[in-house]
Amino acid sequence: MNNYDKAFNMIVQNNGLSVVMTIADSSIIRPSLQFDSNSPRYILDNVHIHWGKSNLFGSEHSVDNEFAAAEIHFAHYNQRYGSFSQALTQPDGLVVIAVLMSISSTPNPNLNWLIAAVQLITEYNSAATIASHSDFYLADLLPNDRSSVFRYLGSLTTPPCYESVTWLVFEKPIPINTAQLEQFRLLRQKSINGIPGHPLLGNRRYIQPINGRTVQTSDPSYH
Ligand SMILES: [Zn+2]
Repeated sequence: MNNYDKAFNMIVQNNGLSVVMTIADSSIIRPSLQFDSNSPRYILDNVHIHWGKSNLFGSEHSVDNEFAAAEIHFAHYNQRYGSFSQALTQPDGLVVIAVLMSISSTPNPNLNWLIAAVQLITEYNSAATIASHSDFYLADLLPNDRSSVFRYLGSLTTPPCYESVTWLVFEKPIPINTAQLEQFRLLRQKSINGIPGHPLLGNRRYIQPINGRTVQTSDPSYH
């Protein structure tokens, strides 16, 4: 994993389905990963977060049959295909790193920059920019102990997750407390017919149409 500890200008957006973080400067060398020196390089496209109405079931993955309160996805595309949209239909197109978030009794100070940004984007389609001098790093969202990781080929339905994904799930979670997690549940979904959108209480197992079609996973446990 390269450049996750570098400072970037980030855009944090409420797209009505999640909090989505992207790197603002397209010319910059992005975070990336490689399985080994002979395998393709995967470039970070976006980071987004899944959570639930309940702290008990917020993650999409479970470890030892225990779901976590929330889950961060680092979505990467194979550099060979040039862009996320070009890569997503390819069998070796995408790699998603998943980091589970488990409830702690005290706030996680490493999340302060993210929570502050989430508080600025409660309205649907709103966005905030975090400047690179704000002393935050994507590595803040990774567990310190990255020695144990589950790797498997799978698929997911929730945008911006797609089919044909190699998943890397870290065994160790990062902490978040309930007050921090509650900020995500205050985000509003898309308004319909002028009626303000409902709070996005959870976005786990969201099935949404992508490009006019409903994509469903081949794994029945995600339905
Ligand atoms: Zn996701």
